[in-house]
Amino acid sequence: MKFSIITFGCKVNAYESTFMKEQLLKNNFIYCEDFKESDIVIVNTCSVTNTADNKCKKMIRSIRRFNDKCVLVVCGCTAENQREKLNDLNIDILIGNHDKSKVGSLINDFLKTKKKYIKFYDDRNLPFEKMCVESFAEQTRAYVKIQDGCNNFCAYCIIPFTRGNIRSKKMEEVVDEVRDLVEKGHKEIVLTGINTGAYGRENGLYDLTDLIRELSLINNLERIRVSSIEITEINDKFIKELEINNKLCGHLHVSLQSGSDSVLKAMNRKYTKDEYYNKILKIRKARPNINLTTDVIVGFPGETEEDFLEGVLFCQKVGFSKIHVFPYSKREGTKAATMENQLPNEVKKERARRLIEIDNKLQLDFNKQFIGQNVKVLIEENKNGVSIGHTENFLKVEIAALLKENTNYDVKIVDANVDFVKGELL
Ligand code: SF4
Repeated sequence: MKFSIITFGCKVNAYESTFMKEQLLKNNFIYCEDFKESDIVIVNTCSVTNTADNKCKKMIRSIRRFNDKCVLVVCGCTAENQREKLNDLNIDILIGNHDKSKVGSLINDFLKTKKKYIKFYDDRNLPFEKMCVESFAEQTRAYVKIQDGCNNFCAYCIIPFTRGNIRSKKMEEVVDEVRDLVEKGHKEIVLTGINTGAYGRENGLYDLTDLIRELSLINNLERIRVSSIEITEINDKFIKELEINNKLCGHLHVSLQSGSDSVLKAMNRKYTKDEYYNKILKIRKARPNINLTTDVIVGFPGETEEDFLEGVLFCQKVGFSKIHVFPYSKREGTKAATMENQLPNEVKKERARRLIEIDNKLQLDFNKQFIGQNVKVLIEENKNGVSIGHTENFLKVEIAALLKENTNYDVKIVDANVDFVKGELL
């Protein structure tokens, strides 16, 4: 029987879909790219905005329209968040974020009994669901989910309600998974989670830095990346590790969300902009060439023009190399969605446009500073006569030569664009 998986949303969802795919292949199902040709279709949904929910529901409807005979499995955040609204979509197996590891056996049961299956759990009381991915399509980089859930309850965010309480994969299980991936040739590991920096906090036995130290002992593992981290999770121990551990990559994605203290407070973010900035100074001292990227929401309820401009100045002061700009989007079920001082769409769009302009300039400034420097590039792919890879601090480098993939080269940076730099072999 043929199956397809349609994945929406974040890297954690992508990891879980990869795991589900591996499980079904082990169960002798055959992977198929086209859901119209598949006997089983899994939709792994995302609920980060109302628009994301709507896209997922639209996809579920079109699967049923074009393939009414398939076994339809829906899981993920929209399933958690909109379970009642999915009732009339003729779904055969409906689960949330938990039990994705059991999808293979749930499908086998359904094929035998034809009994619809719906199951959800109390999302504030969940254990970490064990999953272990054995291989990735990318040769160089592999993703490992080490953590799930969030306890922060930021006012705009639905994730604590769809992903549940913080919980972590056991350190020895992460080490085994990474060792296995490295033996298969992956040189770079990206540690992912919903709130990655909270790794281990629920048991207090170890934390993210302890995990990084353990992973650094694995032979042939060259790079350890942290996919994103909250500023409040960055402590002196982690900063020291940045200073002394050259396997830990010098790229951190640290969501700012707003550069105005009053907006940060309304968002229920747990820091002020001064606290954020002071940490950045410490990080830069430990790792001067650090690449700092961030997310900013513009047009949050009540954000004034002054708040917005304060945020723009703050982004310039930090010198982010990339800002992912999100015009605030109402997310039903969150505190922010009930706030009265919502801003008109035109204001949100206009602020997003202005911040994106600033972002382009910041990206170029960041990339330009490397012109003339020698760097090490790990080649990921060859395309149209050009080799493309990244430095440890996530500078995207293009080299006009056909180089061996998954191999390091010493390169001199000779030119810079907004999205990438050009290099020449040394
Ligand atoms: S830290 Fe805030 S924004 Fe991030 S997942 Fe948790 S609640 Fe959402």
